[in-house]
This record gives sequence, structure tokens and C-alpha cells, in this order.
Amino acid sequence: MRQNAATPNAWETALAQFDQVAKLMSLSVDISQVLRNFDRALTVSVPIRMDDGSLKVFTGFRVQHNAARGPYKGGIRYHPELTFDDLKALAMEMTWKCSLAGVPFGGAKGGIVCNPKTLSKGELERLTRRYTYAIMPIIGIEKDIPAPDVNTNEQIMAWMMDTYSINNGYCTPGIVTGKPINVGGSLGRTDATGLGIAHTIANATRYKKMNPKNLKVVIQGYGNVGSAVGKFLSEMGCRIVAVSSSKGGIYNPKGLDHHALLKHYQESGSFDRFPRAEGITNESLLELPCDVLVPAAMSNQITKENADRIRAKLIVEGANGPTTIEADRRLNERKIPVIPDILANAGGVIVSYFEWVQDVQCYFWCEHEVNEKLKNILDRTYEAVHAFAQEKKLSMRTAAMSIAIKRIADAISVRGLYP
Ligand code: GLU
Repeated sequence: MRQNAATPNAWETALAQFDQVAKLMSLSVDISQVLRNFDRALTVSVPIRMDDGSLKVFTGFRVQHNAARGPYKGGIRYHPELTFDDLKALAMEMTWKCSLAGVPFGGAKGGIVCNPKTLSKGELERLTRRYTYAIMPIIGIEKDIPAPDVNTNEQIMAWMMDTYSINNGYCTPGIVTGKPINVGGSLGRTDATGLGIAHTIANATRYKKMNPKNLKVVIQGYGNVGSAVGKFLSEMGCRIVAVSSSKGGIYNPKGLDHHALLKHYQESGSFDRFPRAEGITNESLLELPCDVLVPAAMSNQITKENADRIRAKLIVEGANGPTTIEADRRLNERKIPVIPDILANAGGVIVSYFEWVQDVQCYFWCEHEVNEKLKNILDRTYEAVHAFAQEKKLSMRTAAMSIAIKRIADAISVRGLYP
């Protein structure tokens, strides 16, 4: 995000978070130096013809943080306030996330500075194709595999796959994940992040001996991720008491019906005038009394300004980086557990890995198999993080990052330094 005085710089935050953990694990200075830097970044100029005949030049990036454990992996984000520093931080976070889940990838992130809501479908397609062409030298099935992220979806992945394939001379489905099913996508990928968050909530509440039935849940953001969380949690018997979009939200302590919410949002584009619910701002939504708060929108939502007013018993990070470092410290002091993004929202990249494996093998699995394998990884990972946190008396975030960084450090060490 572009800076104003109140927004912490994402890259500085990511480095500070890394330094804290590196110190705690007594990581060697050599490895720290490698991981504090990103391997490679490409800035590209993306000229396209607009519908009115004018030419407009957009800026795009792809940042590759580290590939010690496998090819770079991470999403493509379209946002008007996107910065290079955001992408550096998000790429680093992907390295931790893939390592923690045990999928054999490193971390990357890319994107275009643009407001996709103001672009026509044709403009969006031309922008995506020209950007894909521009980053082609550094992506590839065994090099770097993009995926959807904020404001990108399976249609955009289909255009990326097509552009890469045409230029490559043959069909290359494994170049991106999060594609439509009929061009090599995986069953279960669309809902994977949301399903993973729901599994994480189930795991967290089990360990905390909270009854998942009737849990009062607040979800900030009801897009791809948030609405899938709402769907799975409703099926688990939880009570969704508040939801929001970027325009604001609604609250009903008795609970909101997921299907009615989705229908209302799809038809009207907002939650305004949703029956039997009180309108609230995104800020006040975060401060509602509830059992579980799921920030599933953008980064830096829980800050030192509002951390003391959070009344949730548990926070599960659906978005990447929704809690600032100061807020994290404060929540720790207040004994409000935070299940970190690299654990809670890893479902997306885990099923991306399954999609890539299926594409490479040209052999596709049924949805049950995908969901079972996803649950196994998430349960195993949660258990490992929980056990490590208990043993070393660490927060779940520090425990998760320590496990992830240790695996990468081991990979770097055993591979050695070239030349
Ligand atoms: N954008 C998602 C994330 O931040 C998914 C990345 C992927 O599937 O490669 O985890």
C-alpha cells in the first residue's frame, strides 16, 4: 500500500518480523543475510490500448524471494495502491508459507498497479496478456508459477496460461495455478483458502476447548476468501454475526444467513439494506465482541490504535498481514491468540501445489481426494506449530515462522554456496 503516516511499510515490517524470529532461533548471520534479501525482481512497463483508442502504460512487477526448496510460487495482485515494497514483503511471506506447509516451493509475488474495477473486460485481458509476456523471461513450470491473489481470478489465470502457451509454442497448463477446471485447474482450488481457514478455526477451537457449534464469528471481507469461510463455518454450525466488504458491513448478534448474504451481495454489490442487520463500519466491525475474528480483507487492519479494543477471543488471519507488529505484541500481552496468515490461509497455495502436481502428471484427482489431502497437511501443520509453541512458550506466529525458516535455512546450508 502506498504510504501515509499511519501505514507501516510492508517490507520494513516483514524484515522486522524476520529479524525477531532469526534472533530467537539464533539463525546464522550468513543465512539471515540471504533471507533478508530477495533473489530477483523484475519491473515491467505494460503498455496497452484502452477502449477509447488511447495508449496507457501501467507498471507491473514480479518479485522472487527465495527458491532454496523449489520453484518460486505466489499470486498476482492487481491494486491501485500496490507498491514494490508490498510485493517484496508478500514474496517473503510466500517463502515462509510454502515451507511451513511442506510444499516444495519457494516464494514470489507479482502484480500490476491498476484499479481493475475501472477497466473493461477487454482492457483487463490486454493488460494481463501484455504483463504475462513481459514477465515471461523469469516464469516457467519449473521456475516460477503465478496464481490468483487480490483482484485476480481464474479468468485472469486462463489468459496468463494462454499467453504463455502461445508464446511458448505448446499448451503449458502448469505455468499458473488457480485456472478454470477445463484448462487444467484443480477441483477444490476456488474454495481452498476459505476451507483451509475453516479447518484452522476447527483446529484452534479444538485445542482451546471451545465448542465450534454456535461460535460467534466476525468476518472482515466477504470476497472469494471471506465468503468461502462463511460458507464452511455455517456448515460447521458457527454463527456468523458480522461481515463486511470494502464499503462497510453489517451486524446481527443473533447471526446472519450465509446464503442470503451472498445473494444480497451478488445482486446489489454491497451489504446495504440487508434485512434485520445493523450497518457498521469496517473499523467498528473489528471491535465487536465475538469468539473468532477473521480479518480476510487487506493488510494492516489490526493496528496499535485498535488492538486494545479488540474483543475477540481468537483471531485467525485470512488475509496476508492483517495485524501490524505492534498490534501483534499488544494482542500477545492481552493473551488473545492470533493464528498467523502463513498457517491459516495456506490452503490456497497447498491446493495450488496439488494443481501443479496434477498438471505435471496430466492426471487429475477427484474433489474428495484434494480436500482430504488438504485437511491432512493443515492438521499436521497446525499440530506441529501448536506443539512447538507450547514447548518453547512462543506465540503461534513465532512458532510457525521458526519452523518455516529452519527448513529453508537447512536447505540453503545443504545446497551450499555457488560458486
Ligand atoms: N495468493 C495466494 C496466497 O497468498 C495463493 C498463492 C498461490 O497459490 O500460489 O497464498
